[in-house]
Amino acid sequence: MSSWFGKIAVLVHLLGYVFIRWPHGNRSATVKVVENRRGGLETGLLLVAMLTTTLLPVLWLTTRLLAFADYPLRPGVFWPGVALMLAGLYVFHRSHADLGTNWSITLQVRENHSLVTSGVYSKVRHPMYSAMMLGALAQILILPNWVAGPAYLVGFGLLYVLRVSAEERMMLDKFCGEYEAYMKKTARLVPGLG
Ligand code: SAH
Repeated sequence: MSSWFGKIAVLVHLLGYVFIRWPHGNRSATVKVVENRRGGLETGLLLVAMLTTTLLPVLWLTTRLLAFADYPLRPGVFWPGVALMLAGLYVFHRSHADLGTNWSITLQVRENHSLVTSGVYSKVRHPMYSAMMLGALAQILILPNWVAGPAYLVGFGLLYVLRVSAEERMMLDKFCGEYEAYMKKTARLVPGLG
C-alpha cells in the first residue's frame, strides 16, 4: 500500500498528542509547583523521549534523511496499528481529563495536589504511560522505517523504566498510606497484569 497512508497516520498521531495535551498543559501551568524532583537523569531522558517520539517521525515525514531505512507498508500491519493508535489517543485524552491540573511533564507536586484514583486511574496507576506504550506499539506498525518506527518504544521505554519507581516514591512521600492502599488495588500499566 502507498506510504502516504503511513504519513497521514503518523501526522494524525503527532497532532493528536499535541491537541489533547495543549489545553491541559496550559491549565496545569497556572498551578504553582511546590516540589520538583527533576534531576539531571530525568532531563536527559525527557530529551531522548522528545527526540524519539517526535523529532524522528517529523524528520521521516518532512525529509529524506531516514529514507535508507524505509520498507514497504502492508495493510495487515498498518490497520491494526491505526486501531492501537486510536486506542492510545483515547486513553491519553481520558488520563489528562482525569488527572486535571495535577499533570506535569516531569516529577513534580503542585499546590493542592490531590491523589487521583478515579476514572482511568481506577484501572491502572499510570494510564498516561499505558497510552504512550500503545502509541509506541502503534508507531512501529504505522511508520514503515526501521529507525523512526521503533524509536518511540526505545525512547519512551527507557524513560518509563527509569522514572516509574521514582514517581511512585514521590507519590508515597506525598500521600503515604493513601497511595500505598491505591498501589495494592491497581496494576501499573495493564489492568489485572502489572
Ligand atoms: N504516571 C501517571 C501521571 C503522569 S504525569 C500516568 O501515567 O498517568 C506525571 C505527574 O503526575 C507526576 O509528576 C505526579 O505528580 C502526577 N501523578 C502521578 N500519579 C498521580 C495520581 N494518581 N494522582 C495525582 N497525581 C499523580
